[in-house]
Formats: sequence, structure tokens, C-alpha cells
Amino acid sequence: MSLLLLILSVILFSVFLSYFFWKIKWGTLPDNSPRVLAYHKVTGFEFGGTWIPPGRFISQIDHLVDLGFNFINEDEFIAVIEGRRSGNKKEILLTFDDGYREFLFNVAPALKKRGIGALIFLVTSYIGKYNYWELNLPWRRFKHLDWDEIKGLSKMGFSFGSHSMSHRDLKRLNPEELRDELILSRQRLSEELHEEIKSFSYPFGRVNSRVRDETRRAGYRVAFSMCPPFSNSEINPFVLRREGVYIIDNIFSLKNKLSSGTLFWIEDLKGRFINGVSVLTPLIKKYF
Ligand SMILES: [Zn+2]
Repeated sequence: MSLLLLILSVILFSVFLSYFFWKIKWGTLPDNSPRVLAYHKVTGFEFGGTWIPPGRFISQIDHLVDLGFNFINEDEFIAVIEGRRSGNKKEILLTFDDGYREFLFNVAPALKKRGIGALIFLVTSYIGKYNYWELNLPWRRFKHLDWDEIKGLSKMGFSFGSHSMSHRDLKRLNPEELRDELILSRQRLSEELHEEIKSFSYPFGRVNSRVRDETRRAGYRVAFSMCPPFSNSEINPFVLRREGVYIIDNIFSLKNKLSSGTLFWIEDLKGRFINGVSVLTPLIKKYF
């Protein structure tokens, strides 16, 4: 009995210690800022954690609507970040990294029907091609949207940002390669879509001060990471936070990601752990 009590006390003490460490280091999200959700693949099974089935995606969106969340578009979001409009924590910007073809069938019709927009980040060297930048595992090859499909989605009202040219870890590139990834991808998208490309999403969420400053110089207005290393109350237009939604998530965890409530800290630590693990993809890719 006393051993059980000891184990329980150690667990409780560890939980409290983690909470206080988290509270001091990161803390809660600001109330005056819209939340940003980051999805990847909305599709059938794959070996990985960044996918969710279409049915679950749609029920998540409907549930968020029922809870009173208001979905905003890229321009409305940027207006908040640039101080031209006030924002609040009941607003959500939906983002999709990598630009998979499944978006056409599994996401676009459902969002269109509900009058909800989304910002899709494209990898310009892989437009219309399979995702060979990803780890080579069974059931892991997915096709990216091609230019005709992208232009069709643009006409439907969806907006597009850059997710680099080749989806490499930008922190590991030399200055010239880094500028190419940022500038050439923006120019290509802008030429094809005949519009300003305002947003960038760092591949694997990987960014440091050098990558951030170069992204600003490359002509973007905002850039998104996943879980920035600084306090959650701080808003940096070139290292914006997003809440990743993964296969392990359900409505309960999704609500916690979006709230500043009691269990938000667990979701924040979970997101930071998953984001930390994602660095393995470029590393494994390089050495194997
Ligand atoms: Zn990506």
C-alpha cells in the first residue's frame, strides 16, 4: 500500500512540476488572436501521424461551427496580425500544408458547402507530382495538386501560400539555397495565380532567426511555424503559431488546442513533442 502511495505521489509531483515548468516557459495563448489550425492529409490510411479520415475532418468542422467558432480567411487573418483589424480567440484560420490532391475531393466540397475558406501551402517543385520529399514507406506516396487543379480551387475562393520549392529543412541550407527556396517559390506561385503571395509555411515548422529574417526580406507578409520556442502570448508575424491536427486527435483534444483552458498545457506540450520529432524526416532522408 505504501509503495502504491509513493508511486502515486511521484506521478502527481511530476505532473505538477511539468505544469509549472510549462506555465513559466510558455503559458497560455492570447485572447485577442485568432487560432490557426494546421492540417496535412485528409485521406485514407498512411504510415504516419499527419493524416485524418475525411469523415472525421468534416465532423470536426461542424462541431467547431456548433461551438460558435467563426472561420476567417487569409486576408482577414493578416489584417489582425498587421493591426488593421481586431481579432479574437473564437476565430479560426484553416491551413493545409503540402497541397495534396485529396484536398479536391475530401475537403474543398465540404468547405465550399459551408462557406468556409482555407489557406493551402504548396511545394512548387512538386506541383502535380508524388511526394518524393517524404520518407519512403509503404502507403505513403500521395500526389500533389497540379496547376489546373490549383487554379480551379483559387477560383472557388481558396487561397495559396508557399511551402518552399523542395520541402527541405531551411535551417540547413546555405544562404543562396535558402533565398531560392523562398523567392523562386513565391515568384512561381505569383506568376501562375496572378496575385500577390503573402504567406509562407516553414517545412517541418523549422525556423531560426536567419531563416525568419530571410523570409521577411523575400517579400512575404506573414510566415507560419508550428510551436515557436518563445512564450505563447507573443505574436511574431514571421514565426506564427499553428495547432497541428493529427490522427491521434479527437474533438476533445481539438477543443483543448483552441482554448486557453485548464488542459491546454497538455496539448501544447504534445504539439511541441510532435514538432520536435518531425525533424527526424529530413535527417533520415539525408542519411538513408
Ligand atoms: Zn510540409
